[in-house]
Amino acid sequence: MSGAPDAGSIAPPAAARTATVILFDIDGTLVLTGGAGGRAMTRAFEELFAVPDAFRGIPMPGRTDPLILADAAARAGVDLAPEVHDRFKARYHEILRAEVPVGGPRYGVMPGVRPLLETLQQRDDVTLALLTGNYEAAARIKLEHFDLWRYFGFGAFGDEAADRNALVPLALERTRQRGRPQVTAADLLIVGDTPLDVACARAGGARVVAVATGSHGVEELAACAPDLVLADLSDPTALLDLLAR
Ligand SMILES: [Mg+2]
Repeated sequence: MSGAPDAGSIAPPAAARTATVILFDIDGTLVLTGGAGGRAMTRAFEELFAVPDAFRGIPMPGRTDPLILADAAARAGVDLAPEVHDRFKARYHEILRAEVPVGGPRYGVMPGVRPLLETLQQRDDVTLALLTGNYEAAARIKLEHFDLWRYFGFGAFGDEAADRNALVPLALERTRQRGRPQVTAADLLIVGDTPLDVACARAGGARVVAVATGSHGVEELAACAPDLVLADLSDPTALLDLLAR
């Protein structure tokens, strides 16, 4: 964040001058769960609505849980009244808790994530938070399994908006409520693995780092013009440089 040209003479503390809220996506960015989310949604849907394989062909990466569910429900002719949605979520989360430890072909904490979070957690000019299409309970199940939940102070989750773009203003509002009334969207840095992560950052006025550990490659992400594209987070030098700018 740049201040007035002569602001340097005031010499504010580093935390006040450059504090960045880094908003991490989960799936494909922090972790991959080997398809546990898709399996758990599929089983919960079949149990509740007697429709097998309800999510086949429905795109998931970068999209919010309620939007994914709404697509499946519309195709199956299921009326998603709020109490039905709540029942689905409850059963989905029960199954997810059992499915996440199972593993799969693409599974685990993404390269460099844990040391990066350790590094960022030490800094007083960085706040770590989540911005994810996952329902909050699903986010917690996935991240607690890999012992990553504890790094994040708050988040904006799929429960709160089916439209991912609406999660950025929510994260901003939450930051203000947590003692940073002056924070602006330019102080937010989103880290995500899909063009939809880049799009939500752009829509909300936030900066964005795209990381190609999920379902999209470096070239595809670069075409969305994020502030930075990384193959993975194993060398975070460029990301840390971005924080200083
Ligand atoms: Mg993702």
